[in-house]
Amino acid sequence: MLIDTHAHLDFPDFAGELPAILQRAKDAGVERIITIGTGVASSRRSLVLAEQYDMVYAAIGIHPCNANDETDDAVSRLAPLLSHPKVVAIGECGLDYYHLPERPEHESDTEYTSRLAPWKARQKLFFNQQLELAANHKLNVIIHQRHSWDDTLEVLFPWNGKLRAVFHCFGENQARAEQLLVNGHLVSFTGIITFKNAQIVREVAKSLPDGSFMVETDCPYLAPVPHRGKRCEPAFVRRTAESIADLRNQSLPGFLTATAATAKSFFRFPDSV
Ligand SMILES: [Zn+2]
Repeated sequence: MLIDTHAHLDFPDFAGELPAILQRAKDAGVERIITIGTGVASSRRSLVLAEQYDMVYAAIGIHPCNANDETDDAVSRLAPLLSHPKVVAIGECGLDYYHLPERPEHESDTEYTSRLAPWKARQKLFFNQQLELAANHKLNVIIHQRHSWDDTLEVLFPWNGKLRAVFHCFGENQARAEQLLVNGHLVSFTGIITFKNAQIVREVAKSLPDGSFMVETDCPYLAPVPHRGKRCEPAFVRRTAESIADLRNQSLPGFLTATAATAKSFFRFPDSV
């Protein structure tokens, strides 16, 4: 079974086209799609889509890049959504120090650094609150980490054993992947795997054991080659799966059985419990 474990179907990029997009996904063999919330409104939209389409499930969360735009009580506003049977995870949550706040020309280094401190602190607060919410509701979490490795682990690792996390769009090296696996966490790979300059990620995908990773699109972003640069959609997860199966010298059916089993045990879809 082919599952796109990370899509943003609520984004305006797909507005008005979802029936056709989901049909193309089915035609490519995709049987399930998890649409990922990036804020309170986005999480609500994701759940509406999950209610509307059988093959769609939802993750509910606040993306770190939105932490500074959401209200203080944003995470508690997610709580009422969690009892819905099609909510399969919390996320995406985490830390992102790549997309920094804009810096006006006149601002000094000291001023900028002191403004960054509370900005990072709010991301960490929202991240930790979402981990707590996940642990309380016995859900796993989808992590967004960019240029924030050490801080992300510092917030996440106290929760080891209480929940599992998938580091989505994994782009780190083998040692970092192993650091996650020994603590019970997973990674997932996007179309980046097909990019020319993605040698390190390909090495990681080649060597990780079955059961430790999943596949995703992160659509509308990161379309795999030969669609690179165009709008990505769930059907393209097939290309990513084929490409990793090839690297690992696995048959596509064998690869899909293994990654679907990983996704089913991580997300615990209502029909697989
Ligand atoms: Zn995403």
